[in-house]
Amino acid sequence: MKLNPIDAEVLDKLYIKLESSSKHLLGYPCCGSIGLYEDLARFLKFTINNVGDPFMKSNYLLNSMDLELEVLRFFASLFKINDYWGYVTNGGTEGNMFGLYLAREKFPEGIVYYSEDTHYSIRKTTKILRFDNCLISSLRNGEINYDDLKSKLVVSKPAVLNLNIGTTMKGAIDNVEKVLSILDELKIRDYYIHCDTALFGMILPFLKESPKIDFDLPINSLAISGHKFLGSPIPCGVVLCRKNVVDCIRSDVEYIGSSDATISGSRDGFSVIILWSAIKKLGLDGIKQLVENCMAVTEYAEKKLKSVSWPCWKNDHSNILIINKPKQELVRKWSLATQGSFAHLVIMPHVTRQMIDEFVSELSQ
Ligand SMILES: *Cc1c(COP(=O)(O)O)cnc(C)c1O
Repeated sequence: MKLNPIDAEVLDKLYIKLESSSKHLLGYPCCGSIGLYEDLARFLKFTINNVGDPFMKSNYLLNSMDLELEVLRFFASLFKINDYWGYVTNGGTEGNMFGLYLAREKFPEGIVYYSEDTHYSIRKTTKILRFDNCLISSLRNGEINYDDLKSKLVVSKPAVLNLNIGTTMKGAIDNVEKVLSILDELKIRDYYIHCDTALFGMILPFLKESPKIDFDLPINSLAISGHKFLGSPIPCGVVLCRKNVVDCIRSDVEYIGSSDATISGSRDGFSVIILWSAIKKLGLDGIKQLVENCMAVTEYAEKKLKSVSWPCWKNDHSNILIINKPKQELVRKWSLATQGSFAHLVIMPHVTRQMIDEFVSELSQ
C-alpha cells in the first residue's frame, strides 16, 4: 500500500532530517549507521515477538529465541559467567530495572545505594519498586564517593549497590573492588551488586589495561545497551544475572506456554536478530577494532581541542570527553548533551576524525 503524496512528503522530510542529524551526532552514546544492519530489512515483514523466557520455548512461533540464546551466550562468555540467565531487553533502563527487581525480591528490606552521577533510570526504578534508597555523593571525576558510601551504609540491612561502569555524563567507572572491601570492612554479608554497564560493557572487555568487570567478581547482575556501542538502529539491550537469583521471580503462564520472568511481556525479536548479526559479522576481533578505533579518535579529539585551547578532560578507559559548553547553536547542531557549564562528546564508532575537525573548527571560530 502506498501513502498519499502529502503523507509521503512528510516521511521524505523526516528521512532527510534524520540523515542530516546522523552526520553530526557527537553528543550521545548512540551510534550512527556503521552499515551493519541494512540487509536485515526483509525481516520487517514479520511480527517477531520473543514473548516469554528465552530459555524455554514459547507457543508463539514467530520468534528469534534461538538467536537470542546465542546472543546471551556471547555476552555470558564476555562477562565470564557459566550459570547465567538473562534476556534481550528494550534497553539499558529495562536491564537496570530488572537487576534491581531481582535485588528487591532477594532483599525486600535492603537499601539501594547509588551515586549522584548515576543514570536516572536507577532512581526511577527505586520509585517504581518503592525500594528504600540512599543517594551517595560523587567524586569530581564522577566516581562514587567511597568515603560517603562507607559512612552511609546501614550495617544492619542488606546493601544493594548500583555501580556505574561508565557514568553517562563523565564516563567514570566505580571501583567494584574498593566497594567490596568497604562491605567487607563493615562486615556486611548480605549484599547485591548490580553493574550498569550500558556503554562501557562493550568497551572495557576489549581494552588491554582496563578494570575487569565480570562475574568472577561477586556481582549479581549486569545491564548493557545494544543501541549504544553496537549501534542497533532499534533501542535494545542485554541483561545477565546469576541463574539462581531469577527463580525467586519466576511464574508459569499457560497462555504463552512459557515462564514469565522478564519485565516486558511481548519482546522485540527484531533487535535480537540485529544483535546476533552484529556479533557474527564483527566477531570479537571486529569489536576490538571498533573499540581501539574509538579510543584513537578520542585521543585525537582531545589533542585537537587542546590545540585550540578549548578546556576538556576525560576519565581513563573512556571515550567520553568533557568540554566547556559551546554556544547553543553548536550544542544543537552536534546534538550535545549538557550539564551546567559542561557538555560532552561521546566518540562512538561512527565518529570520524573529519567530524572532529569540522566540530573543532566551528568551535574555535
Ligand atoms: C544510556 C544509559 C542507560 C540507559 O540506557 P537506555 O538504553 O537509554 O535505557 C543507563 N545507564 C547508563 C550509564 C547509560 O549511559
